[in-house]
Amino acid sequence: MQFEFTRGLTVLMAVAGITACSSAYIPTAGQSHADSAAIRRDIEYLASDRLEGRLAGTPGNDSAAAYLARRYKDLRLSAFTAGYLQPFDARSAEDAHMGRTDPRHTENVVAVLRGQDPVLRDEYVVIGAHFDHLGRSSTFAQDPEAKDAIRNGADDNASGTAAVLELARLLAAKPPRRSVIFVNFSGEELGLLGSQWFVGHSPVPFERVKAMINFDMVGRLRNDKLIVYGTSTATELKALVDSVNAASNPAPLKVTGVGDGYGPSDQTSFYAKDIPVLHFFTDLHEDYHRATDDADKINAAGEARVVDLALGVVRAIADRQTQLSFVKMAAPVQSTSREGSQTYLGSVPDMAASDVAGMRLMGVRPDSPADKGGLKAGDVIVEFGGAPVKDLYSYTDALYTHKPGDTVKVVVLRGTERLELTVTLGKRGG
Ligand SMILES: [Zn+2]
Repeated sequence: MQFEFTRGLTVLMAVAGITACSSAYIPTAGQSHADSAAIRRDIEYLASDRLEGRLAGTPGNDSAAAYLARRYKDLRLSAFTAGYLQPFDARSAEDAHMGRTDPRHTENVVAVLRGQDPVLRDEYVVIGAHFDHLGRSSTFAQDPEAKDAIRNGADDNASGTAAVLELARLLAAKPPRRSVIFVNFSGEELGLLGSQWFVGHSPVPFERVKAMINFDMVGRLRNDKLIVYGTSTATELKALVDSVNAASNPAPLKVTGVGDGYGPSDQTSFYAKDIPVLHFFTDLHEDYHRATDDADKINAAGEARVVDLALGVVRAIADRQTQLSFVKMAAPVQSTSREGSQTYLGSVPDMAASDVAGMRLMGVRPDSPADKGGLKAGDVIVEFGGAPVKDLYSYTDALYTHKPGDTVKVVVLRGTERLELTVTLGKRGG
């Protein structure tokens, strides 16, 4: 997950006191369910210090790719002509900005499961997750003070990588009608580079790709709450996800469907090429892009429930007779100001609150400008520096018209009250 690039959003973070909810989960006997122990094993390996945070172009990233290739081989999935690895040179805007001219050599990992239907098998559903993370780099980290500490990225995104492996196992046991491509992207944290490479160098004619399901940060299920982005990218998707979830054993999750196909992860590369997409996400937390995003904080039983729901959704898409009906939406306006993107408030948006007019806060970071200015968890920001705030995007745009050190008026709704607060904006990492 990398909010900084797609939205220029550097304001995320830190809700004190959130803990993983580990409610007992007993799958129904006789059905094929996700194996939480297998999910935990994959995450513990990928997020171990020996892989040093899997930054694209480092030996730890290559080791992770080799591990994924071995896992697909063990599952007897097919490779495209030259093996499971899809090498590419990652050239990021951030590297260029830092004066680095040589690319990072890295690779996606790609496997395919042939569909059962003699006609529909020539159509493909892509199941993806990025496996790279920040390594020892503080460049995109929320904890630059931790310097070159290893950012293991257990939730971001060893969790999604493990989800794809588990889906590969479950689907290989009973292939659907359409074919399925499993792909683990590198270079996501550097700007969705692996998924952009994949859509530009697809191993199958790209027009045969009919849907893309992305997993980024699915290891921290709390209170059964799951966000599914992209539910409006095809007319059928919202009802499809809801009906699969309603039939879930033993209990449905509390799913919030969010329409947009443009988000801070790899589904964006596919949506921009007119492919219906979904992105499963168990929401932000205080360890996002920090050295503390470790495997011991993963809720593997919760992730198994997310995988079970995703399995049903993938089967429904891959088995249906007709294709999904794509819905095109305009791309959001990108924030380009580097100076503005350093501006810091310290609020933590509630990504599940897309139905709220304004931006609801999941929390505020202790001692941040937001905290000092009196903002609180649950507040809904409706105006920022005189500009109306309708959602996260209009908030980000409003924030980035200001510089660190500016004093701005922030209007929030707190319960039935409308409050005018004054905050002095800070500098990111400062
Ligand atoms: Zn990330």
